[in-house]
Amino acid sequence: MSSLDPRDPMVLDVRDLARRAGSMMEVERTVPAPADLGSGVAVVQRGTDVVLSLRLESVVEGVLVSGTASVIVTGECARCLDPLEWEQRVAFSELYLHEPGPEEEGLPLLDGDLLDLEPVVRDAIVLSLPLAPLCRADCPGLCVQCGARLADDPSHGHDLIDPRWAALSGYETTQKED
Ligand SMILES: [Zn+2]
Ligand SMILES: [Zn+2]
Repeated sequence: MSSLDPRDPMVLDVRDLARRAGSMMEVERTVPAPADLGSGVAVVQRGTDVVLSLRLESVVEGVLVSGTASVIVTGECARCLDPLEWEQRVAFSELYLHEPGPEEEGLPLLDGDLLDLEPVVRDAIVLSLPLAPLCRADCPGLCVQCGARLADDPSHGHDLIDPRWAALSGYETTQKED
């Protein structure tokens, strides 16, 4: 009995491969992105294309899957909050075992002739996403006083006395009065 659904686009049937150690198969497949693929600041929208380019090799212990996934990531600049969109390509490699072994704890298992790509692809993409995406490396961000975009107005400034200096000048006045 298999718990994986062979119709799931993230599930691969490796029947023709798994039984013959040393054989190899290449798979090109575009699948819809699963839900919740991303971090707080950068996400792959559900249902958008995940372009997979895979190489599967039959080894004694199971099937070695290596390849790349290309996705469109959306997010916002951590400094100026502008919306961002970029293409990200990540590489991954994972050994799917026929049987759980004592020394290979944590590796995914083949489910009969099926293997589930989703956890591996998901981890590779999520780990590759930036924690603080920027629209450009030197984005000046927003004015801390009024929130204006400094990139639009490089000479931006306010005629306000810095509160630290205001406190200091008050202190000096007090000293003189003593
Ligand atoms: Zn920015
Ligand atoms: Zn301002």
